[in-house]
Amino acid sequence: MIVGVPREVKSDEYRVAMLPAGVEELVTAGHEVLVERGAGDGSGLPDEVYAANGATIVDSAEDVFAAAELLVKVKEPQPEEWPLLRSGQMVFTYYHLAASEELTKALLQRGITAIAYETLRGVKGDLPLLTPMSEVAGRMSIQEGAKYLERPQEGRGILLGGVPGVLPATIVVLGGGIVGKEAARIAAGFGAEVVILDINVDRLRHLEDVMPSNVTTLFSDRHNIRDQVRRADLVIGGVLIPGARAPRLVTADDLKEMKAGAVIVDVCIDQGGCFETSRPTTHAEPTYIVDDIVHYCVTNMPGAVGRTSTYALCNVTFPFVMRIAQGQLQTDAALRSAINLQGGRVTNRAVADTFGLEY
Ligand code: NAD
Repeated sequence: MIVGVPREVKSDEYRVAMLPAGVEELVTAGHEVLVERGAGDGSGLPDEVYAANGATIVDSAEDVFAAAELLVKVKEPQPEEWPLLRSGQMVFTYYHLAASEELTKALLQRGITAIAYETLRGVKGDLPLLTPMSEVAGRMSIQEGAKYLERPQEGRGILLGGVPGVLPATIVVLGGGIVGKEAARIAAGFGAEVVILDINVDRLRHLEDVMPSNVTTLFSDRHNIRDQVRRADLVIGGVLIPGARAPRLVTADDLKEMKAGAVIVDVCIDQGGCFETSRPTTHAEPTYIVDDIVHYCVTNMPGAVGRTSTYALCNVTFPFVMRIAQGQLQTDAALRSAINLQGGRVTNRAVADTFGLEY
């Protein structure tokens, strides 16, 4: 099979979808790998290393898209890439289709087979291709939150851990999944007071067991959310209903009750965000302010730490790239669960329901 790895074109996206080690394995198995010139630069992986491992370096995205039977990417196809897609072409990447009707309809029209990292289910019903990026974004959310709590960044001027004689920051984490757990772990390490809210009580039990004593858990309902965000210096949004738009847990009115200069990091913005006032931002302009609350809503947070993220992502995606190349897309249960669009139809129920499209 001809496998193509284009350079990512989304704003401030520094990841690349394949490591030189993956190229070597595919080529050894008899496949051809086309890598767009400069694709690995953002992750410190030069063309020469790909070439040395058997890749053919091609000059333009047009060349990669035109020749590849399977495109392996990081982010959803961007508008400038849509015209390059061919009917029947397999494209393995993150899509988050439920967050964008425009993207969903454009890709349906192109007739591609959209194989989505974020809906691929492992044997335990988990989402193994979402996990490493959630780990990165969860840990990074505290790093970013700490930065924007600083006064020159319009925040409240709060140090996460406080100092002897001064209280630490209060951090509220909505959703105790991967993002929430990693955020809480890092926040706790800084010495902050952390509260995690989730609707899954078993998950809260687990978190209570593994977290240090400055992390407490709370059931996520309307009253608890409202009370907690009022007290918070930093709120992390990390909820997920797989494949669907994120639930709006914090309303525009709730914001008016929050402390001026508090910071929101809405990690689940890629699924539409869990704050009513969230809208997607980029690394170039990551924040904006509503009612004195700093909003950080970058849709591709891991892109900023491209090197860590590229390795973390490719470690888990590559085995599936190999299976697709070996012709196992329709027979492998995990891969089948990742097919969101095929033959001009939606094949993921949550995506279809979000836009009232035929399933
Ligand atoms: P996860 O499935 O591990 O965790 C989600 C948690 O949300 C679950 O524990 C679930 O019970 C909980 N939840 C659902 N409804 C809730 C509610 N009403 N109140 C409280 N909790 C609720 O998911 P994850 O891997 O942690 O990912 C979370 C989100 O972060 C996803 O939308 C993912 O796409 C996103 N993400 C964004 C970026 C980025 O760059 N912005 C990067 C990685 C992940």
